[in-house]
Amino acid sequence: MPPQKRHRDFGWLFIVCAGLLPLVLGILCTAIEARHTVNQQQVSTANTLLSQAEKMSDSAWNMITTLRQYHHRACADIEENLQRAGTLNAYFRSIGMLQGDHISCSSAYGLNHGALAEMMLQPPPVTGKAWWSLSIRGTLGVPDRPAVIFVRQLPDSSGFWAVIDGQYLMDFMHAIGESRGYQMTLQFNGGAIISSGPDEQPGQLYLKSAQYRAESSRYPISVNVTVPATELVKAWRQALFIFLPMAAIFSILLMVLTANWLRRRLSWADEIRRAMRNRQFSVHYQPVYSTDIERCKGAEALMRWQLPNGEMIRPDIFISHAESEGVIVPLTQHLLDLMAEDIQSWQVEPDFHIGFNVAAEHLQHPDFVQDVMRFARRIKDKQMTITLELTERSLIEDGEMVARKLRHLQSHGMKVAIDDFGTGHCALSYLMTFPLDYLKIDRGFINAVEGLETETPVLDAIINLCHKLELDVLGEGVETSLQFAYLRQRGVGLIQGYYYARPMDNDRLRAWLNEHGRKPLLVEESHEPELHHS
Ligand code: C2E
Ligand code: CA
Ligand code: CA
Repeated sequence: MPPQKRHRDFGWLFIVCAGLLPLVLGILCTAIEARHTVNQQQVSTANTLLSQAEKMSDSAWNMITTLRQYHHRACADIEENLQRAGTLNAYFRSIGMLQGDHISCSSAYGLNHGALAEMMLQPPPVTGKAWWSLSIRGTLGVPDRPAVIFVRQLPDSSGFWAVIDGQYLMDFMHAIGESRGYQMTLQFNGGAIISSGPDEQPGQLYLKSAQYRAESSRYPISVNVTVPATELVKAWRQALFIFLPMAAIFSILLMVLTANWLRRRLSWADEIRRAMRNRQFSVHYQPVYSTDIERCKGAEALMRWQLPNGEMIRPDIFISHAESEGVIVPLTQHLLDLMAEDIQSWQVEPDFHIGFNVAAEHLQHPDFVQDVMRFARRIKDKQMTITLELTERSLIEDGEMVARKLRHLQSHGMKVAIDDFGTGHCALSYLMTFPLDYLKIDRGFINAVEGLETETPVLDAIINLCHKLELDVLGEGVETSLQFAYLRQRGVGLIQGYYYARPMDNDRLRAWLNEHGRKPLLVEESHEPELHHS
């Protein structure tokens, strides 16, 4: 797991949130959308009802205008005409004439012509106007069914009236509102309420029942349309039904994108690039001892990565990820830059060996020779010998081309070593086709040393082979005086390991070189394992 990723291992939370986002948004949006749609339908229903009520008012007033032809005529003469007009025209319950507050003539059969208040079952409103209309609970003949009365009073205290049956309005309301469960009311001049639809139910939360009120600009008519919460929920459910499959697809898409983004963002490659920018890498150097000249012969550069919180990432881990995620080349270029900076402050004798590890991919890379040559130029004045530590694995591919590159670098005084020798799977005969200078024997073989006089067959064989092939040989991971004495006794010219020195940072290396660099490594007689310069 990349170092930062361990601290931010809430990736799954991101993914879950990304998955939920379209769903939550969808549910919210569909609720708003459902409300909006229902509101629009509500407004248009209210307007339709209003215009129907206006149309009825128009025909009532037209009827009254027609009645004016009977002005000053005796009721007996015109009663029949009134009856015909009242019956043949739609909407009307009755029509008639007034004299003061009394009904002087009416189209309704058998109606004893009483007071207007009697007929409309309530006192007429005091409007002070010659024209007025009012919705009423009922009329004398039909007391249980609402109606609307229209009255026109003439200056001579006579007048005309028409009563429209509320049933027409109720039926109309029913026709336009029933399928949607609307509850509708209608009032003329603030009179009795003519209503249709179910009674209002209590709603919940956002989806509580919505009321809309509209008023006519031409007549004193007001209508109210109420959508019950259940209707809103129904509309919402319908919207969800269409939307949810889409949201699910979005949800999955977003989850995949987030997972990808997280993977990219938290990949080792990205972390390594960021760490290079933030200068989190540094180089430690492990001194190498020469048993021939009995002093420090060189040092191997080993990369170190320290996070801002002080935590160190192990090199074998980040190196293998850098290799598998394709950032080993820039990382090694970075290493060479850091080394070149460090080396400027060194004071070492000519031919001091500075070794660094070369990854297989870098060796195949077209920039390899140029990168190394550039490094060589930067440290030229120190007259050091650059040592390339290659693994057997890196020699498998493109052998010819690799050999050419190595020969070129050797022609500039560089040395080539096989690192971890004995752990790879290359045939020795194949290895020998490369221009090699020395082998670094893996510490696994050195661990096998049991006593100065006891044979260690594989180790001995490797050492003998190196001598026969005239290759220099370096023992890696030497931790005890016994191992050291053993190797020295068998002619291993170079020793590297904790017994001589541990890897150290640039400042400590310079101090170490000053103090110990020129001193021979003394072997304790007992050959007991012991750390020397720790
Ligand atoms: P390596 O190239 O074989 O490096 C030697 C490793 O052995 C180093 O480990 C060193 O600290 C350790 N070592 C040295 N003496 C002793 C000893 O006496 N006892 C024990 N137990 N260990 C000893 P380190 O620094 O952890 O590096 C591990 C590996 O990571 C290296 O193995 C090398 O393969 C890789 N590596 C480190 N730095 C770089 C680099 O800059 N580039 C590349 N490509 N690989 C690197
Ligand atoms: Ca090495
Ligand atoms: Ca090694």
